[in-house]
Amino acid sequence: MKIAVPRERRAHERRVAATPETVKKFVAMGFSVTIEAGAGLQSRIPDALYKEAGATIEPDVASVYKDAALVLKVQRPMQAVEGDLDELALIPKSALLLGILSPFNAPESVAAYAGAGITAMALEFVPRITRAQSMDVLSSQSNLAGYKAVLDAAVEYDRAMPMMMTAAGTVAPAKVMVLGAGVAGLQAIATAKRLGAVVSATDVRPVAKEQVESLGGRFVMVESDELKEAETAGGYAKEMSEDFKRRQAELVAQTIKTQDIVICTALIPGRKAPVLVNDEMVASMRPGSIIVDLAVEQGGNCTASRPGEVVDVNGVKVVGHFNVPSRIAADASALYAKNLLNFVSPLVCADGDGATAELALDFEDEILAAATLAHGGSVVHSAFTDNN
Ligand code: NAD
Repeated sequence: MKIAVPRERRAHERRVAATPETVKKFVAMGFSVTIEAGAGLQSRIPDALYKEAGATIEPDVASVYKDAALVLKVQRPMQAVEGDLDELALIPKSALLLGILSPFNAPESVAAYAGAGITAMALEFVPRITRAQSMDVLSSQSNLAGYKAVLDAAVEYDRAMPMMMTAAGTVAPAKVMVLGAGVAGLQAIATAKRLGAVVSATDVRPVAKEQVESLGGRFVMVESDELKEAETAGGYAKEMSEDFKRRQAELVAQTIKTQDIVICTALIPGRKAPVLVNDEMVASMRPGSIIVDLAVEQGGNCTASRPGEVVDVNGVKVVGHFNVPSRIAADASALYAKNLLNFVSPLVCADGDGATAELALDFEDEILAAATLAHGGSVVHSAFTDNN
């Protein structure tokens, strides 16, 4: 059974869906693996290392996809309307496509998978259950994004982060506020603390308080009965009421004007990111302050952030880099490729002679049921079926 790993073609994407380590494991399971030439270069993986691990290197993308039963991608394949190469048309019928397929950003792609007879699974839909922790691409990538966001802020900041007591005088520690204390936010807190900053954070999920405090951060939060209902059964945040939003805005406004660096990480799955920092709040910060908006591609937590830009608002720099995990591509690829290996491994069964790997898909399984967008020529995910 053949696994295809094409080069990622979307803008700002430097990651790759397999590493020599995962290729070796797939080959040991009985798969053959074909990697498009140069697929790993931006993650510092030369073709020779894939070859050493047992992969075939193929310069022609059509040959990479030819006869593949399993396609490993980071982002969803390009479609004809998006450019010169129609990757989707190259994927063999009945193949299994795995990736961060972002179906809410491209709902039409889901029907296209069904139309092409592909089984498409979105890894970001894997439920946050204990059994699936090692497959959790949201966690592996957000964790790195939270770390990189603080480094990106430090690079833009023209002061030092830690307190320094020197013969020439004392440098005060930077004050960092983290909005949203999920996976990215908690790593941002830990990273800012390691750099010596004084850190505070806020979230709408009350359980975040203990997590923030365990990392040495101060938790600031609106007191409201609404918070008891702020978390879904899946552990995600809900959209809050207008009254809560107003009170939260007052709290953020009060805190933010004393901060040097703000790291925005707040998200609500399947919706636009909540706006937490408005223009007035940006104007209240002293020149030289930094805001990094990790939510910029989901609409932004900060009204001044622009995707792919570093905006200067009267001396306050608002950083809105695209695809932050990809800015730390070598580690992001390594962890993402392991997530994919951990997702595929339980699906593998050896064929009769035990030499060739086959996939057995149980669509009743809660992980596959949550992740599958299209199968057998139909859209099967409830968020995208017509009767939804
Ligand atoms: P996310 O990326 O969806 O959102 C980031 C954070 O923003 C969340 O903490 C959210 O509560 C917060 N947020 C949303 N609206 C906000 C607002 N108006 N103001 C302030 N903060 C706001 O979240 P995530 O990082 O993917 O984590 C979601 C949940 O999943 C968490 O409960 C986390 O602990 C849990 N989780 C579980 C596992 C596991 O058990 N396998 C793994 C990872 C994460």
